[in-house]
Amino acid sequence: MSDSGQHLGSGDVSASEALLVERLGAAAVERLRDLERRVVGQAPPLPWSGRAPPRGTALDCDVLLAGGGLSLLYAVTLARAGVRVAVADPNGVARGHREWNASMPELQALVSGGILDERELQELVAARYARGLVRWRGSAPVYTRGVLDVAIDAQRLLNHLRARCGALGVTLLDGAGVIGQSVGEGGVEVALRDRDGAVRTLICRLLLDGRGASSPFARWDLVCPTVGGVLGGLALGEGPDEVDPSVGELLVSVDDAQDGRLPIWEGFPGRSGQFTTYLFEYTEPQRLGPRPLTALYGRFFSSLHRYKRGDATVLRPTFGFIPAHSRLRPHPASPSDRVLLVGDAAARHSPLTFCGFGAALRSFAPVCARLLERLGADRLDRRGLEACWAEAPSLTVLGALALMMTDRSLARRDPAWTNRLLGAAFDALAAQGDEAFRDVLQDRAGPGQIWRLLRATARREPRVYRAVMETLSLRELLSFARNFAAFGLRGAEVTWPT
Ligand SMILES: Cc1cc2nc3c(=O)[nH]c(=O)nc-3n(C[C@H](O)[C@H](O)[C@H](O)COP(=O)(O)OP(=O)(O)OC[C@H]3O[C@@H](n4cnc5c(N)ncnc54)[C@H](O)[C@@H]3O)c2cc1C
Repeated sequence: MSDSGQHLGSGDVSASEALLVERLGAAAVERLRDLERRVVGQAPPLPWSGRAPPRGTALDCDVLLAGGGLSLLYAVTLARAGVRVAVADPNGVARGHREWNASMPELQALVSGGILDERELQELVAARYARGLVRWRGSAPVYTRGVLDVAIDAQRLLNHLRARCGALGVTLLDGAGVIGQSVGEGGVEVALRDRDGAVRTLICRLLLDGRGASSPFARWDLVCPTVGGVLGGLALGEGPDEVDPSVGELLVSVDDAQDGRLPIWEGFPGRSGQFTTYLFEYTEPQRLGPRPLTALYGRFFSSLHRYKRGDATVLRPTFGFIPAHSRLRPHPASPSDRVLLVGDAAARHSPLTFCGFGAALRSFAPVCARLLERLGADRLDRRGLEACWAEAPSLTVLGALALMMTDRSLARRDPAWTNRLLGAAFDALAAQGDEAFRDVLQDRAGPGQIWRLLRATARREPRVYRAVMETLSLRELLSFARNFAAFGLRGAEVTWPT
């Protein structure tokens, strides 16, 4: 890999565009630009205002799912229960451009949820890792087992979901993007724009918004811009700068923070010497620059050789914004009656790990069960829909920890700070054993576990107290304390609302 990518800084956008086209291909760069425009708010306003369907309006379907990505899990589950479902996606249904990892117990939810059988699940597995690595610059590596240790063939899963939709009679609206909706007592009129620009409408009882970070309703206060893809040509071996097929690299840093943000790598060996790798940073939406993914790809190409050696080529680019919610403010609710956010648009996953895939596996079946009751009783009011969600209590305290890694932290003055903090935190976590490690990363940790982890981290890195005072506002500190007290009373158990 040459160093030419280092010219891809945010200040030199035209040069970066040409280099990105060379490295990623024109179609991928067009998708990237479109996503940047939609997420950082430069998209033109929607040119549509519809009519609210009155009671008794004839319906085209029960549920319209906007976004045919991972949220197809909802389409299959609802259709299996006899609900008439349609799915619209401007980029084509089940064309996700994602790579996903989880553990086998988490993946079993696909079998118990009726999405696929055991044989089909095994066929999805692209790689398994004997252990997972976390290594922060300046700290000793730590290892764990049973976390993100199974890489699945994401396109195969999406193909399967699409085929199941077809077999269950789901209407697939390839190339149709939702551009607006109007909610009335008789349903939701949804406007769809086709690839040729033609606009048509469709009336449903419920709109499921699975448009990810680009949904106009997605409200998040934390974000990881993430870039990378499936790479070929990297050196195989057991050295830290080589790809070891038996090791999943969960979190690795090879640099200190730049402008307060720590660039973090993850890397998962795949089939035939391929390596899926990402570079991401923790930040807040208001601090995303005008071209966040373009700028991050610049860092990706200029620092890849410090992470892994070899003559890398990008075989399949993958990028996006992974949104999350800190829970230090009220959680964004359904925008109106008859509309429910799912997947990344709902930002219900951990604000610390951002593992949206694992979170979707854990939640799609219970959320669908609640949704089916609501559809059956025709109780699709905003509050009732919001109550379809329940989440792990530990998530209410993890957002504050994520803020400690953003570019408002001590890292603005001390670029080595975030590495030191994370080195101390993961050393403390590894000392608690594999089970505690899994519990924290898979949203099962109880209040005692989190408390012990915080104390052990502070013993290793006492500057953490000052960093907390510098990073969190008084309001955020009070929210954190209140959430922790409630977490302590409630424990780790997820209780689905009745
Ligand atoms: C680069 C990257 C790597 C990741 N790696 C991991 C990982 O290793 N493990 C993990 O657990 N999670 C990972 N995640 C997170 C995980 O991929 C997401 O949580 C998950 O894909 C969310 O799925 P989704 O369907 O909600 O959203 P998305 O995957 O963002 O899909 C949204 C869909 O909506 C469509 N859409 C957009 N606009 C419209 C519109 N107007 N109308 C209709 N449809 C529209 C898009 O075309 C897209 O298909 C990663 C995310 C990224 C970006």
